[in-house]
Amino acid sequence: MLNTKPDKESEQNLPIDRQAPFQSPAYRENHLVIANERPEFGELREVVSGVYCLKMPIPFVLDHINLWLLKDVEGWVIIDTGFYSEAAISIWQKILNTLRMEGSIHKILVTHFHPDHVGMAQWLIKQTSADFLMSQQEFMAAQTAYNPLSDEQIGLRRTFLEQMGLSTDQVSCLLKRKSGSTENDRSIPDIYQCIEGGDELQVNGESWTLYSFSGHSPEHICLYNAQRKILIAGDQVLPAISPNISVSFTEPEADPLAGYLRSLSVLSTLDKEVLVLPAHGGVFTGLRERAKILIEGHRKDLDKVLVFCQQTRNVKEVMEEMFGDKLSILNLFLASGEALAHLNYLVAKGKIKRDKANVYRYTTLS
Ligand SMILES: [Zn+2]
Repeated sequence: MLNTKPDKESEQNLPIDRQAPFQSPAYRENHLVIANERPEFGELREVVSGVYCLKMPIPFVLDHINLWLLKDVEGWVIIDTGFYSEAAISIWQKILNTLRMEGSIHKILVTHFHPDHVGMAQWLIKQTSADFLMSQQEFMAAQTAYNPLSDEQIGLRRTFLEQMGLSTDQVSCLLKRKSGSTENDRSIPDIYQCIEGGDELQVNGESWTLYSFSGHSPEHICLYNAQRKILIAGDQVLPAISPNISVSFTEPEADPLAGYLRSLSVLSTLDKEVLVLPAHGGVFTGLRERAKILIEGHRKDLDKVLVFCQQTRNVKEVMEEMFGDKLSILNLFLASGEALAHLNYLVAKGKIKRDKANVYRYTTLS
């Protein structure tokens, strides 16, 4: 789900409630899941007619990703591809053999650029010659995210992290996370077919309407089958955790939280019976209730930040107020970006004043 190399070792040393800063209790009310029984890794399971789940391992705390496969008369459409790893290759080799008995794999659609979604795309394209579909912003984000940073970009990123008030050690640990090639670099496709919100994908005589949303990533695609009331949601809405909403150094003034809250309002307009097929966790109904819980969770965080910033604070202090101070490097990356997202939202709304010194300082306006 995230643009990071795994750092499982450091996470294993942390108590469970520190492992995922975006899993605050307000986001965890999980009475919506209707199918907790999920496939085993590598098992292809038909969840509703013609829609299959393939659960794949990922080497960080989220543990797995659900890929979704749609069957039609020509063969298969694959939604998301998995994190690039030997384990994923071995599962895909077996699954491809199974799929080929029932037709070719003719389309691969990736919801967004994070490595557990796009990581196996290039490998799969080479195996199948399928068309590769992605939104433009996600494709461009992938090209940037998986190439090594130039010295100038590293300098900009260092300044961005220093402006948060992070310690010298924290800054250098975070900079090391994006210092060179990863396995994923080899698996990012160079050519794509552009898709965007409003497009219709025809599968087996049925229309899947594409929605594009910002917040978790720049142009995240969800697929909605209005006829059968099914939503393939990617990471945009998940049953048990809140997707990470972060500001990155390439767009320090961004307000992704506003985009994310808007997306939840749009998703709340879908049929109230919709069955949601998420990228992590079990399938669920109750999308409107889930969206409401997520919105309320962020509202509570925003209120907390407003109270905390009655005394002038920096991003690091706000992050520790929201998520604690015992964070793995992965969670430091997520939590600092998410704290800044909440501050940028409040600055844009005119509720917080920002002073741009070497370390940015934030004060609630009364
Ligand atoms: Zn993601």
